[in-house]
Amino acid sequence: MIQVIQGDITQLSVDAIVNAANSSLLGGGGVDGAIHRAAGPELLEACRALNGCSTGDAKLTKGYRLPARFVIHAVGPIWRGGYLDEPGLLASCYRRALEIATEQGLHTIAFPNISTGVYGFPKEKACEIAIDTVQSYLTNETTSIRQVTFVCFDEENYQLYGQKLAETD
Ligand code: ADP
Repeated sequence: MIQVIQGDITQLSVDAIVNAANSSLLGGGGVDGAIHRAAGPELLEACRALNGCSTGDAKLTKGYRLPARFVIHAVGPIWRGGYLDEPGLLASCYRRALEIATEQGLHTIAFPNISTGVYGFPKEKACEIAIDTVQSYLTNETTSIRQVTFVCFDEENYQLYGQKLAETD
């Protein structure tokens, strides 16, 4: 089951929230800053031990002071015009996060709109990639995941996700 909500991902009591991290995993602004503030300093310590993460990949930590049990730190691409495999790298982030959740036997996972903040990925294209990748994973793979929540912070993304999900239902 896929759902969309508007709100702050740090508040969700799911098995894992996904972070839109940068490749250092050492903290940034936007959703990453909010997650680190809410999780407490132990999260940064755990991230330091991971030695970064490639674009298109993801890594797991515990959730520390968050209501979520785990954080899956996914590194989305910076939009540079669309000719440097940005769409493929964005799809890869969503897929890797789902694979990690499956490896852990998790049931519920929540995603922010990866790369659509300071990384500048066009929102409509990013929304299509996110939904298509999640739907195809849930259809084609054996997984423990029962619920995927897209957490939109801004109204524009919330509208885009609502429309796209209504079309594909
Ligand atoms: P990126 O560098 O991947 O673009 P950003 O954090 O700048 O990451 O933005 C990714 C998305 O996360 C944006 O759509 C932004 O509006 C959203 N966002 C920012 N804060 C939060 C939050 N607390 N909960 C959910 N989404 C958030």
